[in-house]
Amino acid sequence: MNNIRIESTTIETNCYLLEEDGHVIIIDPSDCAEPVFERLEKEGWTADYIFLTHEHYDHIWDLEKVREHYGIPVVACELCSERIQSISSNLSSICDILIYFKKGVVPEEKGERFTCNAADITFDETYEMEWHGHSFTFQRLPGHSPGSVLIRMDGEAVFTGDYMLLGEEDMTRLKGGSDEDYKTIARPTLDAIPKGTHIYPGHGVDYLK
Ligand SMILES: [Zn+2]
Repeated sequence: MNNIRIESTTIETNCYLLEEDGHVIIIDPSDCAEPVFERLEKEGWTADYIFLTHEHYDHIWDLEKVREHYGIPVVACELCSERIQSISSNLSSICDILIYFKKGVVPEEKGERFTCNAADITFDETYEMEWHGHSFTFQRLPGHSPGSVLIRMDGEAVFTGDYMLLGEEDMTRLKGGSDEDYKTIARPTLDAIPKGTHIYPGHGVDYLK
């Protein structure tokens, strides 16, 4: 399998392209629609699904662009699906401030509030699917946000969204975050990920636990 990381230019959010047999899953379409389109076209690959790790604006900037372009289903937990439809829950209502504090400058078109449409395949707590010889398990993991999920692939790789960023503390202080959920649900689940598992976070580089 090819696992290609495309980092968005505005605030370094990771989009992952998983390719098998010329088919592709796109995880978290940030502001990276153009490089995604270019790569798939160049390789002659077919996009099958979009997966979302959570509802925050920087992980869904180009969601509508990408889903329209390919006409493919979006997989997300129900709360993520609800919350991408709200400017206050997807944090785009304050994204100009968040981008400013991170980068010191806000590109005109990136400070805009926006919403997305509901996901096509949703689940409450867990969901499993098979795809080109790979198995994916989704598990809702509130703490960072109500719609955060952990996506496990083949029991050897995990897409963690905004959890387990290398060298950073997990963050629960954004709107919708919950210390209580983090302590009782997210943290124990993350701690239980076996050593040697490949961690693919929503920001920064991947690494082995
Ligand atoms: Zn986030």
